[in-house]
Amino acid sequence: SEIALEELPGVGPATAEKLKEAGFNTIEAVAVASPSELATTAEIGESTAAKIINAARQAADIGGFETGDLVLERRKLVGKLTTGCTEFDEMMGGGIETQAITELYGEFGSGKTQVAHQLAVNVQMDREHGGLGGSVIIIDTENTFRPERITQMVNGLSEKYGMELNPEEFLQNIHVARAYNSNHQILLVDSAVDLANELKEMGKPVRLLIVDSLMAHFRAEYVGRGTLADRQQKLNKHMHGLLRFGDLFNACVVVTNQVMAKPDAFFGDPTRPIGGHIVGHTATFRLYLRKSKGEKRIIRLVDSPSLPEGEAVVAVTTAGLTD
Ligand code: ADP
Ligand code: MG
Repeated sequence: SEIALEELPGVGPATAEKLKEAGFNTIEAVAVASPSELATTAEIGESTAAKIINAARQAADIGGFETGDLVLERRKLVGKLTTGCTEFDEMMGGGIETQAITELYGEFGSGKTQVAHQLAVNVQMDREHGGLGGSVIIIDTENTFRPERITQMVNGLSEKYGMELNPEEFLQNIHVARAYNSNHQILLVDSAVDLANELKEMGKPVRLLIVDSLMAHFRAEYVGRGTLADRQQKLNKHMHGLLRFGDLFNACVVVTNQVMAKPDAFFGDPTRPIGGHIVGHTATFRLYLRKSKGEKRIIRLVDSPSLPEGEAVVAVTTAGLTD
């Protein structure tokens, strides 16, 4: 397993040492232990042992069930990342949530990449300024990451808050990888887990993972094929890898997506995001971006487990995303 024992909630360096000495070297070994066995070995309480085992099972994808109190415990850690826009934040119930996938979909030029860049800046701010004090990993499939744009946005925040923020430092906390095809894109999520573990140890936890764009390679590679089953299976694996990343590191996962024309739409908006049910069901929040007058963009919350549908108007300016 790529996850260290120390990553498990309730396992400090001392406990991890004891576990390793007793032969529990991996997450998998812990996942299949019994609470009493673990409690004796690591000299911890049995309920703590049970919690550690539960966390290990989850991390190792073993079991699949967890009790409601554990889910609640994890939910309490959910952080909210500001978008920098009042209406947008309010629509999201405070901001973009960690431990969830937020999908930004819309036509070319609707502002998906702009929002992603802005979040990569905002997440590095402290909590007082709506950030999560974390670093960023970007999987860039369309070669649209622009460091110059980050610099403009950092300068925008300097202006907004009357602070002297250093764009260079912000760029140092953004880790970008180009994905050359869909297989590479999936593999990069594993690399992202390794990198996030390293950064965590360095005191620079990753709080935002961006995939821009999620579907471009999948769409291009599977054009005109008789069956989409193969694509959907790979996509499913990818989406669950992303979800797991969000849970493991208490990070926001933001993906962008393209739209296609709905051939059967007589009423309403004639476009829909691509990726079918797999993307639709794994994305926790779905946001539909549309161009409006000039620099204005309309962002619609289409699907959410706990929030009402709604719309927010934002502006894409040189200084970044603003009200
Ligand atoms: P997509 O949804 O295709 O990812 P983008 O996020 O790339 O779209 O949005 C591109 C749009 O963002 C441009 O058409 C422009 O309106 C705006 N934009 C990009 N860079 C700047 C900038 N430096 N200053 C102001 N607006 C910008
Ligand atoms: Mg884009």
